[in-house]
Amino acid sequence: MTSTKKTHVLYVDHQGHPAPLTECFHATASRRLSSTLQRFPPSSVTSIDSAYCPNCLTSQDLVQYCNRCQRCSVCVHSMLQIMVRDNHCVYECATCQWRSAISVPVVENASKVEIARAAEDLCLQVKEARQVADHKDLFSERKIRRGIQSLRSFDRDKDWSLEILEATLETKRKEKSIRPEESKVESSLSIQRLNLEDDEDRTPTKFEGTIGAWQWQALVRGVHRNDLLPLPVPLRARRSRRCRAELASGRPGILVKPKVNPLEGDSSLRTGHGQWWRKDSSAIHVIPRVRVVKTVYQEASIHFLLQVTNPTLGLIRMRWGPSPYCGEEDWDGNVTLLLQHLLVDTITQEHWNVRLLEAEERQFETTKIIELASAEDTLLELNHNSGNQVPEAISRWSGTSEQTQWIGQQQQDAWLEVVVEIKSTIKNNEHLAIPLRMQVELGNGSWESSLIEQDTSKETDWVDIDVVLTWES
Ligand SMILES: [Zn+2]
Ligand SMILES: [Zn+2]
Repeated sequence: MTSTKKTHVLYVDHQGHPAPLTECFHATASRRLSSTLQRFPPSSVTSIDSAYCPNCLTSQDLVQYCNRCQRCSVCVHSMLQIMVRDNHCVYECATCQWRSAISVPVVENASKVEIARAAEDLCLQVKEARQVADHKDLFSERKIRRGIQSLRSFDRDKDWSLEILEATLETKRKEKSIRPEESKVESSLSIQRLNLEDDEDRTPTKFEGTIGAWQWQALVRGVHRNDLLPLPVPLRARRSRRCRAELASGRPGILVKPKVNPLEGDSSLRTGHGQWWRKDSSAIHVIPRVRVVKTVYQEASIHFLLQVTNPTLGLIRMRWGPSPYCGEEDWDGNVTLLLQHLLVDTITQEHWNVRLLEAEERQFETTKIIELASAEDTLLELNHNSGNQVPEAISRWSGTSEQTQWIGQQQQDAWLEVVVEIKSTIKNNEHLAIPLRMQVELGNGSWESSLIEQDTSKETDWVDIDVVLTWES
C-alpha cells in the first residue's frame, strides 16, 4: 500500500546533530559536515565581518547606527529626507509629512553646496540632541520597560486596573458634563491601554518594542509629536560562518562569507548576477542529495524508495550500509536514541521528536558499489533528448525486496530501496527513524570536487556520511 505519510532525510553533522541538507555545509577538503542548527554543542560559529546601512548601503565600522540616515519617529519604518521648508533645512517624512523640530536656516535660493552644508549641520544637531536625551535618560528603554511592568503588575492585582479606572471615569463623565482636562486624561489613558495590549498580544521584536516604548514614553511625558527626535537607523551586520572542528584543527574552515559590497550579486549591477558570496560551501553543491520518492507499507515492514542524486560535475561512486550513529551526546557524554524537537523541514520549520531504531533493528548487508554520472552530462543529454524518463523498474516499483538494495540507476540518479522491519512500539508524539551510512569513494576520478585528500594507505578510501531517514509514525 503506497503511503502519503511525511518522510524526511537528515544529514548528521560532526557534532551528531541531524539536519536537513539545506542547513548543512561542507568545509573545503573536510571529511565532516557542519550545520547551522542551534543545538548543543553547535557544529559551526558565526562572526561579524563588517556592517552596512540597509538604506544607503555604505559600509561603516565601529558604530551602531548609520552616520547619515534617519527614520521617522512617527511611522518608524519610513526614511526621512532632508528638505528645505520656509528657508530652513529640516528632516521630513514623505509618508506622514512629519517634520523635525530641529532645523538649520538657509538663505533664500541657496546653492546646492550651501544646502549640503546645512544638511550636514542638521545631522550633527540631531545627533547632539539625541545624546542629550540619552544622557537625561529621557528615552531609556530600561526605564520604560520597568514602567510598563509595574503597570502590568498593578493590573494583575485586580484591585487596580486600567479597565476599572476607565469605568470610573466613564461614570463620572455621565454624572456631570465633561470638563476638558478629564477628556484629555481619558484619551491618553485609552492610548496607553492600546499600547499595552499591543505589547501583550505578540512578542515584539526588539526593534518594535523600542519604538512602542518611545511613543509610549512620549505620551506619558506629554511630549508633543513635533518634539520627537528622528530615529537612528541600525546597521546590519555582515556575518561569516566557520566550522568549529576545522577551526580547532588550525584551518580557516570558512563555510560562507559574504561580499564586501552589499549590492554585489544584485541584478541592478551589470555583472556578477547571483554571486552574493565570496565563499559558499553549502552542502547542496557537493554532498549527494537523497530524497524519498515513494513509501510502501507491507504487513511487517516499511519499504522506502530513495533517490540519490549526484550534484557535482564529476562522477561519484558510492555504497550504502548500516550506520553506527546512535544519537546526540548530552552534557554528561551519554547518547540517547531520542532526539527531541529536531528541525526536519527548513521551509515549513517543522520540528519532530525523532526516535532512532535500536542497533539490532537496523542491520542490513552493505549494498554493491554504484557509479553516478556527473550532473553536467545530464544537462547535455536533456538538450538532445527532452524525454528524460525514469527507468521502468522505478516507475513500477512496489516495494517487494527482501532487503535494502539498489533498484536502478540512470545518469546522475540512482534508486535505493530501504527495508525496515518494525518491532519497536511507537510512543505518542514520536516519529521513528533509521540511520544509514552513505559511503562515497575517493580517488580513481570519484568525488574529485570535494577536494578531500585521498588516504592512499587504504585499498579503497571511503568518506562516511551518516543520514537519518525519519517517517511519520
Ligand atoms: Zn545610511
Ligand atoms: Zn512618518
